[in-house]
Amino acid sequence: MGRSYLVTGGAGYVGSHVALALVERGDRVVVLDNLHQGHRAAVPAGAELVVADLADRRAVAEVFAAHRFDAVLHFAALSLVGESMREPLRYCAENAANSLWLAEAAVKAGVRKFVLSSTAALFGEPDRIPIDEEAPVRPGSAYGESKLMVERGLYWADRVHGLRSACLRYFNAAGADPEGRLGEDHRPETHLIPLAIDAALGRTPPLTVFGADYPTPDGTCIRDYVHVTDLADAHLRVLERLEHGSCRYNLGNGAGYSVREVIAAVERVGGRKVPHAVGPRRPGDPPVLVASSERLRRETGWTPRFAGLDAIVRTAWAWRERHPQGYGGRAATAPATA
Ligand code: UDP
Repeated sequence: MGRSYLVTGGAGYVGSHVALALVERGDRVVVLDNLHQGHRAAVPAGAELVVADLADRRAVAEVFAAHRFDAVLHFAALSLVGESMREPLRYCAENAANSLWLAEAAVKAGVRKFVLSSTAALFGEPDRIPIDEEAPVRPGSAYGESKLMVERGLYWADRVHGLRSACLRYFNAAGADPEGRLGEDHRPETHLIPLAIDAALGRTPPLTVFGADYPTPDGTCIRDYVHVTDLADAHLRVLERLEHGSCRYNLGNGAGYSVREVIAAVERVGGRKVPHAVGPRRPGDPPVLVASSERLRRETGWTPRFAGLDAIVRTAWAWRERHPQGYGGRAATAPATA
């Protein structure tokens, strides 16, 4: 029996992969997106797109009045660590206000479940690696702080209104739909893997490595890259888990790779060098973030299909190579499975 979901930010990177997974299993999906970062072409066929800003509370109320949702999956947000360190107040104000008013609208409409796209940036510089759900929360950036504000609001929404929420702290979402239907296209692109691929393909200037003087084996930052399709699968599982009450999960592969290791993986997969040069550190970047997703695995049976870095990079490379202009351009060659 199909269910009905509101997916905010469903035209964006992670949101579109989740919307696709829901549509594919026969659920009804309404995507709410202002298309500032998202792309019309990323909204899966079969999903309804409402173009509106979350700050437009009347538009949001209209969406809730027109549908009965089983849950809200909330992805729409400002999401760049570096930008948040230049505009901290905007990040805290917009992300918190938009998300909390959305949750309020959901409560008023009688929706019982809410899934928040949260972040490893909650943990700042953790005491222990891998990071489990008991690790102290002390954001190292305004972006992380803004998500913490939302997590706290949702805690109170559960206590007072019974809104069940799942806070999914993603580590580094990466890769693309393995069937080539969706990919990663941020404007401007700031993420390591697509930037390294574009540099290898000669489309952009050399990649800048943000700091090689961190206390890590090769001096560059270590991150836990998790495939976006595995993230989508986690959302489907967590929706079932919410029957039992609110939850929060750290979501990563449990393996850390340095910036230099990512560059090496892109070179292996693509068969081309990644031109790069070491530059200064980027404010707000912790040296090491690696997840323990043991709780998620234990409680939902989640197992990542794309556990290795090369497997993740391969899907990213395939999409990027065929879409030189991202969603803005035509596919250079037809995807094999289209
Ligand atoms: N990074 C880099 N050069 C870039 C972009 C990213 O060295 O042009 C590094 C960044 O400092 C971090 C890692 O790559 O250690 C992943 O960054 P990304 O922006 O992809 O994700 P984030 O960790 O900020 O969520």
